[in-house]
Amino acid sequence: MNDINITAYGATDFVGRSSFLLHDRDHNILLDCGLQLVPKQMSIAPKGVDNIAHKVDSVLLSHAHIDHSGYMPALSKHGFKGNYYMTHPTKEIVYKLWLDHLKIEGRRHWSESDLDKVFRRIKTTEYEKPFKVADGITARLINAGHVLGAAQILIDWEGTLILYTADINDRITPMFDGYDLPDEKIDVLLIESTNGDRYVPERSKIDVGLRLMAKQITDEKNKMLLPSFAVGRSQETLITLALDDDLNDVPIYIDGMINHMNMVTEHFLSDKWVSKRFLSQLKEAGLYSPFEKQNFIPVPSISNRTHNSRKYISKNEEGSIIVTTSGMLEGGPIHTYLELCGTNPNNVLGFTGYQVEGTTGRDIYDGNKNITLQTSYGQPKKINLKAKVMKFPYSGHSSVDGLKAVMEKSGANEIFLIHGDKRNQVYILNFVKDIAKPKILKEAVPTKLVSL
Ligand SMILES: [Zn+2]
Repeated sequence: MNDINITAYGATDFVGRSSFLLHDRDHNILLDCGLQLVPKQMSIAPKGVDNIAHKVDSVLLSHAHIDHSGYMPALSKHGFKGNYYMTHPTKEIVYKLWLDHLKIEGRRHWSESDLDKVFRRIKTTEYEKPFKVADGITARLINAGHVLGAAQILIDWEGTLILYTADINDRITPMFDGYDLPDEKIDVLLIESTNGDRYVPERSKIDVGLRLMAKQITDEKNKMLLPSFAVGRSQETLITLALDDDLNDVPIYIDGMINHMNMVTEHFLSDKWVSKRFLSQLKEAGLYSPFEKQNFIPVPSISNRTHNSRKYISKNEEGSIIVTTSGMLEGGPIHTYLELCGTNPNNVLGFTGYQVEGTTGRDIYDGNKNITLQTSYGQPKKINLKAKVMKFPYSGHSSVDGLKAVMEKSGANEIFLIHGDKRNQVYILNFVKDIAKPKILKEAVPTKLVSL
């Protein structure tokens, strides 16, 4: 008897260190290998992956976010000798995120030379093109609608179809028209559960609010700070602002790693990677790239000039928008901007993404005004935040209706909820109970999926 099993090394009933091993007697395929980011502390590696790295045939990466990719460079150190498969955009994005991780945490998990080894063994692929990952096993990457290059992974394991959704979004977002689904009937579905009882509004409604507020705040010659995640949300926010002609005269400053990610995005503005609707919107607006607008101003990252630029941007008389990192206000240029313009009650701090508990962003989101900033001089500084706080409830993850639709259409007999906290998973279990009875995996315990 040969069974296909799954062992989770993270992201079971929580978000972080996504890493799942599919294995039978003869094969081992690893889906994602991420780190768990813990606010104000060092990241946590997926527990147990080091011991199995040597026997893994192939590693497949769904998308670049560090909670899915961050531990991957450690695998070769622990004996992994196979290839890493991902989409072209993911390769471009993840390399930058890995370099950034080295800057933040140093060589705790892996070094520059490990990074070189990984990079040489990455095989890139397009959506919807099956490729071999081991004898008798093929994989296909399917658009996830989450961030540029993000994929669901469909595995054909000697005729058994296993769909790992990773992070999916059902909503129409500036660059994507939601996720795609395979036509085939799926046997086993591993589905994310980030949003349970959290209502996800239609994007277009939030966009209207963002544009109106941006216009009003800048007309009154005030500053609107929009801390955003470097991969995904910042591009979406910028596109929303770029496609509003009412904002053509408003300076929009772009600071931090977002500028690099915008360039990467520009390389992939084709219908292979973004929606046709988005491409025709750009065409209508007469733009090759949304980031080439006259009023979009990248802040130079030359260290001795950067602070002066930020000071000028914050203190001048013009109304402007500043889109910068980090998205959860854990560090980065947003701290300098908050130091420079956060104490002015006429300015606005607008949240564009979910704020994880324990982050500075969450603290402010929940109403705390006394915050500690990490200044550009490296010294902590306490300020009393007086800028108005606004919340734009964007999400990169599917609504609960979208999750139910995947379960229904997949036809899967076995469904597992992954990548979500318990409260959301309980909500989903109840919400889908008329069509499915998903289970929740236990960490580091092999669970049988099917008998071959
Ligand atoms: Zn993600």
